[in-house]
Amino acid sequence: MAKRDYYEVLGVPRTASEDDLKKAYRKVALMYHPDRNPDDDTAEQKFKEASEAYSVLSDKVKRAQYDQFGHVPEGMGAGAAGSSGFGGFGDIFGDIFSDFFGAGSRTRTRQGERGSDLQYNLEISFEQAAFGHSTEINIPRMEECDRCGGTGARSSKDIDVCPICQGSGQQRIQQGFFSVSTTCNRCRGMGRIVHAPCDKCQGQGRIRQYRKLKVTIPQGIDSGSRLKLNGEGEAGRNGGPRGDLYIGVAVRPHPFFLREEYDVHCEVPISIVQAALGAEIVVPTLDGKVELKIPPGTQSGRHFRLRGKGVPHIRGSGRGDQYVAAVVETPTNLTSRQRELLKEFSKEDKKATADKNKNYPIMQKFLDKIKDLVS
Ligand SMILES: [Zn+2]
Ligand SMILES: [Zn+2]
Repeated sequence: MAKRDYYEVLGVPRTASEDDLKKAYRKVALMYHPDRNPDDDTAEQKFKEASEAYSVLSDKVKRAQYDQFGHVPEGMGAGAAGSSGFGGFGDIFGDIFSDFFGAGSRTRTRQGERGSDLQYNLEISFEQAAFGHSTEINIPRMEECDRCGGTGARSSKDIDVCPICQGSGQQRIQQGFFSVSTTCNRCRGMGRIVHAPCDKCQGQGRIRQYRKLKVTIPQGIDSGSRLKLNGEGEAGRNGGPRGDLYIGVAVRPHPFFLREEYDVHCEVPISIVQAALGAEIVVPTLDGKVELKIPPGTQSGRHFRLRGKGVPHIRGSGRGDQYVAAVVETPTNLTSRQRELLKEFSKEDKKATADKNKNYPIMQKFLDKIKDLVS
């Protein structure tokens, strides 16, 4: 029998794209699939023909050879197109049909289906994130039904091994040279038949329940972290393992502190007198108040580091630092006496200013810079 043209077999033009070929092949293969045409030799022939055509045309090299030389006569085409190059059938079959058949059969085996993972979002304070925190959460999740023990049956007498698959949950259909494994139709992969369902779970084997769980947040955790609680997700089906529970952590912003990795930043206002003469000020830290020495001549925005006053490291020992920015506040609503004193001060200031601004190095630098611009 002369071989039909591969493009004709798939019903596509010679210019068909890879995608067109795949679609056409699926259509033809599904139409003649032995599952749908049991004991039909013609269908099986067509199915093989389409698979062979696709195995050649989906391979760039083989397609180019085929386009140029056509079918290679039997027994001649070493490595070229033709039946001798028709080796990858199993792969193509598995690849192209993976989304048609048994999509669920890989996860739902007789061993049971794993329970779903759960996500719980937990909001904690800045201090709780820094030093760790223990709390209880109440989550709704699927639990194994305590009345039937997850079997879904009213009693153990109401369960039988599936007569179709003998408990494997899988049906194997043998058709000529290949076989397809699908989820058993009768028991839907469970491997058993329940005659009378459990009253409590309506045969589901699981029920939704609130469960209290203790959660321990480690020190040093930051917003966006995710904790995993192994096996605290939903109960599995049919004896499958539990899923996991993920705790998403969100840290509430602090009114005074700002966190950067393990360091803590804050701003503290000081007066012009404190800035000029120096002072001892009180600064809040995560561990309570501490005294901070402001040296004379402190400029606004200057940072002071408090070693080890930051957030404890999440692993191991040690802590970050706290950075205190001193912000000079200009006084407002002065009394006339204050104003007088400041005017007096200003006179003294001008004398000093005449002396190359030794009191104001920043201002002097500025004046030097713009001198060329304004003259
Ligand atoms: Zn079955
Ligand atoms: Zn039950």
